[in-house]
Amino acid sequence: MQQAVANRKGTHQAVSVRLEGIVKKFGKVTAVEKVDLELPAGKLVTLLGPSGCGKTTILRMVAGLERPTEGRILFGGEDVTRLPAYLRDITMMFQSYALFPHMNVYQNIAYGLEVTRRPKEEIRERVAEVVRQVGLTGLEERPVAALSGGQQQRVALARSLVMQPRVLLFDEPLSNLDAKLRKRVREEIRDIQQELGITSLYVTHDQEEAMAISDLVVLMNKGVIEQQGDPRTLYTKPISRFAADFIGRANFFEGYYSGGLLQVGTYSQPHQQEGISGRVTVMVRPEALRVSREGEGLEGTVHLVSFLGSSTEFSVDTAVGRLEGVVAGDAPELPGRGEKVRVQFAPQGTFLLPG
Ligand code: ATP
Repeated sequence: MQQAVANRKGTHQAVSVRLEGIVKKFGKVTAVEKVDLELPAGKLVTLLGPSGCGKTTILRMVAGLERPTEGRILFGGEDVTRLPAYLRDITMMFQSYALFPHMNVYQNIAYGLEVTRRPKEEIRERVAEVVRQVGLTGLEERPVAALSGGQQQRVALARSLVMQPRVLLFDEPLSNLDAKLRKRVREEIRDIQQELGITSLYVTHDQEEAMAISDLVVLMNKGVIEQQGDPRTLYTKPISRFAADFIGRANFFEGYYSGGLLQVGTYSQPHQQEGISGRVTVMVRPEALRVSREGEGLEGTVHLVSFLGSSTEFSVDTAVGRLEGVVAGDAPELPGRGEKVRVQFAPQGTFLLPG
């Protein structure tokens, strides 16, 4: 079985992680129900889903902080199910950085290596390397209490990386940063993870964060995997209303699909989708809603137009309900409030689900 590939730095081997038939019960509560999952070596996989769906429990089982009730966990083919956390060669990042406030940047990063009694010279070299990787050069002597939130998060990341873990685990690491910083730090995490090629598992309930950083998104619902795939597939081909609703925004309404024609109210338009016919639930992303004053389309009346700077949102009342749309920029050509319009659904963002 091919499991380990050398990562780009060559400092250690990236391993795949496999979860086989994992069940976790806490008394009568089944937190995780028969989960099979593969984290390819060197990739970043996100567990995404609403509160209580079992994300953290899975992360903790991979870390070795919880023992599965059933099933096996493999790191690069090695069964680690019964291996305690400290022997698994993993590191975990949390939202609270848990840095030592009385120590400086260097001391915080070096701490784990000093505890394991690595030679002084090796510690110096490894710390210097990760300080450079996470962009903290020049701040080594700074007390961590005198750093910004984003810098502290980088120290936390450096402290994880310096241990050269086989697997990097992230438990909602950005949730106490403000929106702008969250975006910047997630890009940094992604950048460093890609550069180093460390197999990573990342827990979040923020779908945009998951889409932005992941090679693979695993969407969970009540202890089971609802759908998994790359961000684009999840967005364009959701397998259920839950998936469509959780990832991105969408309009949902009833329609009828047969012979390559999608009928919505009294309007029909060509549509191509295999494996479905008859009564359907139509999912249309806001950016796929096209409105015009004339021509073919579902009849509607513009309800609201809101200019938001980089985009303009609008809503249209139709026979199948109020539909929300968005266009880039300030869209001066958009019909205004109260105007009669025709609505069409661009194939890119239109997807049919069983009715
Ligand atoms: P959140 O985003 O809120 O952290 P989550 O998706 O990470 O949610 P988990 O923390 O994995 O969800 O919890 C899954 C289920 O297992 C929940 O119903 C939770 O109440 C339950 N659970 C988790 N840990 C324990 C525990 N130690 N004892 C009992 N029940 C638990």
